[in-house]
Amino acid sequence: MGASVGLIGLGVMGANLALNIAENGFTVAVYNRTLERTATFMESADELAAQLTPTGSLEELVASLAAPRMIILMVPAGAAVDSQMRALLPLLEPGDLMIDCGNADFNETQRRLSELDGTGIGWVGAGVSGGSDGARFGPSIMVGCTQAEYERVSPILSAIAAKHDDVSCCARLGTDGAGHFVKTLHNGIEYADMQMLSEAYGLMRDGLGWSAGDIGEVFARWNDGVLNAYLVEITANVLAVHDEASNGPIVDVIADRAGQKGTGTWSAIEAQKLGRPATTVEAAVSARCVSSQGALRSALSDVYSSEGATGFGADDTVEALELALLAGRLCAYAQGFNAIAAASELHQWNVPLARVAEIWRAGCIIRSRLLDDMAEAFQGGVAHDNLLTNELFVPQMTVAIPALRQIVGDSVAAGLPIPALSAALAWFDGIRQPRGTANLIQAQRDFFGSHSFERTDQSGIFHGPW
Ligand code: NAP
Repeated sequence: MGASVGLIGLGVMGANLALNIAENGFTVAVYNRTLERTATFMESADELAAQLTPTGSLEELVASLAAPRMIILMVPAGAAVDSQMRALLPLLEPGDLMIDCGNADFNETQRRLSELDGTGIGWVGAGVSGGSDGARFGPSIMVGCTQAEYERVSPILSAIAAKHDDVSCCARLGTDGAGHFVKTLHNGIEYADMQMLSEAYGLMRDGLGWSAGDIGEVFARWNDGVLNAYLVEITANVLAVHDEASNGPIVDVIADRAGQKGTGTWSAIEAQKLGRPATTVEAAVSARCVSSQGALRSALSDVYSSEGATGFGADDTVEALELALLAGRLCAYAQGFNAIAAASELHQWNVPLARVAEIWRAGCIIRSRLLDDMAEAFQGGVAHDNLLTNELFVPQMTVAIPALRQIVGDSVAAGLPIPALSAALAWFDGIRQPRGTANLIQAQRDFFGSHSFERTDQSGIFHGPW
């Protein structure tokens, strides 16, 4: 009898997923483009090797599987996925299913589904979060496919996913690209949260003059309170790590240039396209880009001093910072869920937002204590698709926003950059204004381009007497 599932791509994620699947009692046939990697993987599999079948070609992989076949792809997004899909296609039969577990752009998932239209071969888009540990011991899995396809993939995906209170953190979130869309926005929120945490670190380092070790202790303390989250926990951990070579904290000798692979940018763009801007994500992506402009930053710092800037820090700065991060995080989640709700409506995915919050509670990178309240809020229905209107969050925001305002004000005055926290506050102040300033924009647009405007006191379309 053939293996339960095939897996292509034994990199960081694929190798760990294969071991996780095997440990859950399924048999897995594996294939990797570079065959040496397959051999090394099999050696590392120890007692799980009996559940694994190494194969040396796609033909051998396909022949090793029980029909109808299921094959997981865990290769980099984009061209690698297309090349594997096209190479597999002639080897597969109607009823077979390919499952893209990488971080695909959901637009590409939609396009691949149209390419497969009429072949009888299925394509499941499944976003997997949790890094290497998650892949090995239980990730959060966001799936887009038909109900019938989900019934086929769910026994394996639900078994390998993280469990929260014994409930699997794997769910079908809609058809076609829904899973990859939600995974993309998950990563967007991850970008925003990481940026805000690094801004808090920067304020303590450059504003208060504290050492990495001292700052790490603050993060460790915060992790026991309202900010409890995996990202806060690992921030405390990395700040405490000593480097032998420099005889100091390792974080002090890590170059301040952040990498990125695309999901943050996709999130920001998709949210903009939907008219539901995720400004905290935009700020986080921009900050990573700025971090890579080292030469320009250096040149500008030679020209522009921080003359005129005030000092930073008061007795309550660290307490205010904790609440400011809470407000910023809530804004980032609210923006992310808002974009997901808008995409769900546009694509008729019917994404169960409460289920999204639930499956993010374990296994994934943005797991945090707040997600329990978010799941409860969505279970009860959220007005205007915005978490911040919910009674569970109004009291938290009411306390946290003044602190965010204090931190943003003090940082601006001190010349310390906190783009994501500032973006959160600017968005919040805009989204809570019943009367904004777009009336002037409409007047300007009509003046130079005859774009017309609506009036508040009469119905119809008007032009001004310019
Ligand atoms: P990785 O460690 O770089 O491994 C990539 C794998 O894909 C390798 O097995 C590589 O084979 C194979 N591959 C690359 N190009 C290929 C091609 N053109 N044709 C066939 N195989 C190809 O990557 P990873 O971190 O496991 O990421 C895999 C996917 O998971 C990506 O979509 C990534 O965004 C997503 N993801 C990653 C993480 C994470 O924390 N790393 C978390 C969630 C999701 P060779 O050995 O031949 O190079």
